[in-house]
Amino acid sequence: MKSSLEETLLSSIRTIPDYPKPGILFRDITTLLGNARAFRRAIDELVHPYAGSKIDKIAGIEARGFILGGAIAHQLSAGFVPIRKKGKLPHETVRVAYSLEYGLDEMEMHRDAVKPGEKVILVDDLIATGGTAEGAVRLLTQMGADIVAACFIVDLPDLGGRAKLEALGVDVRTLIA
Ligand code: AMP
Repeated sequence: MKSSLEETLLSSIRTIPDYPKPGILFRDITTLLGNARAFRRAIDELVHPYAGSKIDKIAGIEARGFILGGAIAHQLSAGFVPIRKKGKLPHETVRVAYSLEYGLDEMEMHRDAVKPGEKVILVDDLIATGGTAEGAVRLLTQMGADIVAACFIVDLPDLGGRAKLEALGVDVRTLIA
């Protein structure tokens, strides 16, 4: 049986078939963000294992990871670090290539955004193949971050992303599958 939290989250996420291309079922969390109760419950649930722990930074993946990550950073009194598509950050960056469903892209973060040993939680809305989150983990690891966990609202378990991150030694937390 699904918990009331799962039901709230599942019913507040909209599915758009064939977006952005044929065959993809796009899980649109903008409807969850627009639902005050669902948004609050999702953030509270993502935050609660870390309440009272010292977390230095929340790293959010562009773009939906910024919205969730900002709210989580506020709740945990942590700083926020944006991980962006290449060419968007103004200062000196570190860059990594990561795999998409078809081909490669690159993402960046500011070189001075995380100090060695800082405790960081990585956040995005959804994990599918895990290519995006793996790229972010590599950037954070390169800068010496201590990655406490990677958190997502939605897991698409058939695509293997969770297993990919766990194989890198990252603790993965998701709210619904
Ligand atoms: P991946 O790198 O395959 O794990 O893809 C994760 C990234 O792509 C996240 O930033 C998601 O927001 C986005 N994404 C991938 N698949 C979907 C989907 N079916 N619905 C919504 N977003 C998706």
